[in-house]
Amino acid sequence: MAELEGPEFGKADFVLLDEVTMEHFMENLRLRFSQGRIYTYIGEVLVAVNPYRALELYGPSVVEQYRGRELYERPPHLFALADAAYKAMKRRAKDTCIVISGESGAGKTEASKYIMQYIAAITNPTQRAEVERVKNVLLKSNCVLEAFGNAKTNRNDNSSRFGKYMDINFDFKGDPTGGHIHNYLLEKSRVLQQQPGERNFHSFYQLLLGAPEALLSSLHLQRDPSAYCYTQQGTQGSAGSNDVDGYRAVEEAMAVIGFTPEEVGAVQRILAAILHLGNVQFVAEGEVAALEAVEHLAVLAQLTGTTPEQLRQALLARTVATGGGELIEKGHSPTEAAYGRDACAKAIYERLFGWIVGRINASITARGYDVRQHGKSTVIGVLDIYGFEIFDTNSFEQFCINYCNEKLQQLFIELILRQEQAEYQREGITWQNIEYFSNEPIVELVEQPHRGILALLDEACLAVGTVTDALFLANMDARLGHHPHYSSRKLCPTDKTMEFDRDFRIKHYAGDVTYSVEGFLDKNKDTLFQDFKRLLYNSSDPVLRSMWPDGEQSITEVTKRPLTAATLFKNSMVALVENLASKEPYYVRCIKPNDQKSPVLFDEERCRHQVAYLGLLENVQDDV
Ligand code: ADP
Repeated sequence: MAELEGPEFGKADFVLLDEVTMEHFMENLRLRFSQGRIYTYIGEVLVAVNPYRALELYGPSVVEQYRGRELYERPPHLFALADAAYKAMKRRAKDTCIVISGESGAGKTEASKYIMQYIAAITNPTQRAEVERVKNVLLKSNCVLEAFGNAKTNRNDNSSRFGKYMDINFDFKGDPTGGHIHNYLLEKSRVLQQQPGERNFHSFYQLLLGAPEALLSSLHLQRDPSAYCYTQQGTQGSAGSNDVDGYRAVEEAMAVIGFTPEEVGAVQRILAAILHLGNVQFVAEGEVAALEAVEHLAVLAQLTGTTPEQLRQALLARTVATGGGELIEKGHSPTEAAYGRDACAKAIYERLFGWIVGRINASITARGYDVRQHGKSTVIGVLDIYGFEIFDTNSFEQFCINYCNEKLQQLFIELILRQEQAEYQREGITWQNIEYFSNEPIVELVEQPHRGILALLDEACLAVGTVTDALFLANMDARLGHHPHYSSRKLCPTDKTMEFDRDFRIKHYAGDVTYSVEGFLDKNKDTLFQDFKRLLYNSSDPVLRSMWPDGEQSITEVTKRPLTAATLFKNSMVALVENLASKEPYYVRCIKPNDQKSPVLFDEERCRHQVAYLGLLENVQDDV
């Protein structure tokens, strides 16, 4: 039961604070957290503090308390917000979206699951098997997505390493009829390497620790993550029993979603192939690379539906076209061969993940929806996307994630301002401008055509001749040195927190982040030799083959340069923001109370920082 509010719990809405100051805001937040009141409103925005303990707040009786109620009738809750979005959708036929933001570990994914669970609970499919099925698939899809897209990081044992936007379609009666999942930028470099204390994606450990003996031996795997280069690092203190349970849960979820046994088998072979691929080592034979041991070839060939000879070729050489259009084999150096192997492993995993998402979508896409029969279809979207990240070393991935957060913050400010303006107009009051910190200049710094960081990065990647990461940095220094949100060691020679020729810093709305340019060019180009694509396209395994349609072309037919990783990401962000802006938004702002995952610790400074950069105080000022 969500007990009613009382003065001992502080204010259930920050708008009711006696004084709108940071001190009062923090005091209220702390008091509520200490009383297990993790939810508080700011008008219609829900602030949620991660409790780091199981609260009895989500059971069927609580669902009943919120069903069909107005926002303020009950204590603040995710269910109340989900109900508001559902009502807007049902009564006013509005497309709505719930945007969940906050840093890594703040509770976004949990919140998105509770929202889904609530929506599933309050819709009552009247014995229609199809609707029931869609609901089940939507709920089960989380388990599969988490197995393949989540990993243990130092901040969060189950951290989503991809962004997710999920649409749920409803018919005029408010019954869910289908859905669609978009995924964003999977952190695929994790397949190869993890920071100390972190793990690879859960899927690998689940397979190694949870699969039955017979399956493991058919995949030529040992029940030991430390036997594989890609999972070796992550074995310290790994949660083995979770992985065993996880394996079973994923197996069941895949069956509910409708993966065929053949498809599940293909997925397992692909995971095994990646593990084996990681153990392939190269030695120098004169100028070129040779395999250190050949026994991996037969196993890999079996798992990927290729031949040992084709594999050997793809691992050791690439096909290049001479000036005269002739095709020749050029042997890799051992370094190039290792690079190729790793690029291939990452790409296989990324395509596998994309295929899984596509497969889930295929089973939940609203099929045969007839507007004449069912009326207008409406949508509730739930966005759960990586929060702002600052690590000890920040690379290309953090740069993309933080850029994404800048875009979402910009949208948040725009929408709140727009709503306010409309309110002022409605009430006939002259428009008063509340000072929000505008992050427009930072978004521009990153994405401005021809001049922004992304444009300069693409320019460096497309340039002929050798352009290094350091040269890219020098170019940014020369062209962006004047920008108030950009700096580097060269521009601030006395600032020893940055390294010469390696680091640059962006003053983000959420704080300063120092990025190391090392690897930016490589990660942006994201080169995968065409030979690998062709190899996998020619696989006899229909599932694997279907993931590589671009492998059909030979090297001479590949005319268009593939878009860079940064451009693809930028395009997907622009599309996402457009989509969200077309819907009526509801916001959940998640706060992480401490870095120790403690249910009792309220780290004043950490919380204050999050309140500041989420702009929550400004939010309250608008609403009073
Ligand atoms: P994020 O998606 O923001 O990175 P998660 O949603 O994965 O963070 O939350 C991190 C961890 O915090 C979860 O694994 C869970 O242990 C805990 N947690 C988050 N929200 C809740 C909640 N409402 N109730 C209980 N525990 C929670």
